[in-house]
Amino acid sequence: MTEDVSTDIDLLVAVARSVIELNSVARSSTFRLPYPPIVQLTLDRLVLAGLTRGLPVPSGIPELMSWCRERELDGWPLALPSGFLTADARLINPAAGEPTRTCAELASFGPQGGPEQEAETLLAGLANTCGTVERFAVCRDFLIRRPVILRFDPVEVLQPAVAQTWRLVKELYGPVPDRFTIDGLLHCCTGCGLLAKSATTEGRWCEGGCLAVGRKLEVSQQPGLALALPLALRFFLALPGRTELTVRSQLAERARLRPLGLGVHFFSSHDGMLRAFQVHDREQPLPAALRAAEVAALLGEPLDVVVPDGVAARPGYRQDFDCAVPTGTRVRLLSASEFTAPEPTGRTRRAHA
Ligand SMILES: [Zn+2]
Repeated sequence: MTEDVSTDIDLLVAVARSVIELNSVARSSTFRLPYPPIVQLTLDRLVLAGLTRGLPVPSGIPELMSWCRERELDGWPLALPSGFLTADARLINPAAGEPTRTCAELASFGPQGGPEQEAETLLAGLANTCGTVERFAVCRDFLIRRPVILRFDPVEVLQPAVAQTWRLVKELYGPVPDRFTIDGLLHCCTGCGLLAKSATTEGRWCEGGCLAVGRKLEVSQQPGLALALPLALRFFLALPGRTELTVRSQLAERARLRPLGLGVHFFSSHDGMLRAFQVHDREQPLPAALRAAEVAALLGEPLDVVVPDGVAARPGYRQDFDCAVPTGTRVRLLSASEFTAPEPTGRTRRAHA
């Protein structure tokens, strides 16, 4: 990779981090001045890159944000390697005006860390507070099942079955950002369990990207009673967690959690070998493969990355993931159906010499 390409990837990652940063500080649809330093610095870098190359540049931060919503990446003054992101990638969803999962994945790319690393830090803190892996596993499952609590009921969490878990996880929840409340209503998607909007320019939208057909939203008329996990845990724990719960329920034996990063599970496969797996639900295969390689390196063992069937079936996803796995890394991508199939599927682990 040339220095220019590497610098331009860094610059796009900085734009993604800026979107996440602005999103976390913006309380209404209009951003307030002054902008956070990372955002202004990123704009300056992008303008310099464009002017140096004689290419169009955004005139200010509002225009940069509209680029993130509307402009395809080949229209940016950046030299990105072909296939670095999928062709239709956007950092802000044009209809909902919210950061995309691509944005969160990109913001987590590289050594500085972003939402994914924030999720890992929050989970490490929870594991520490829990003291035992068993207690941590119960708390982690609670977060996966309840990323958004549309109507928080203080009496419900005093019930003996959940009281201890709630005491351990409650600090991770906060109020839902005001911008999700539209006409006094707050929506949550029953498919992914994440935040949703009922009427965007393209109809219903949810953070998890559920298919429009059959998507159901739950509504609350009292948004002030709602609680949600931070974006980092919604995107990187709760969303793949839905698939993880299904996968775990279909294994012949109970998978055991190792509290490493977002969580890695182990179970004995048909051949008696102990296998490690982590479930992903991501839009961008290349950053996903590189992160998986980092997890495999930390584990020191082969890692199966399990993705929802719909993700594995996306055109090019599997090939792009496999191509991005670094040489010598024992990472294998499987769909949830392949992973839980009673017989080996014949998909071999990628392990370059
Ligand atoms: Zn959804």
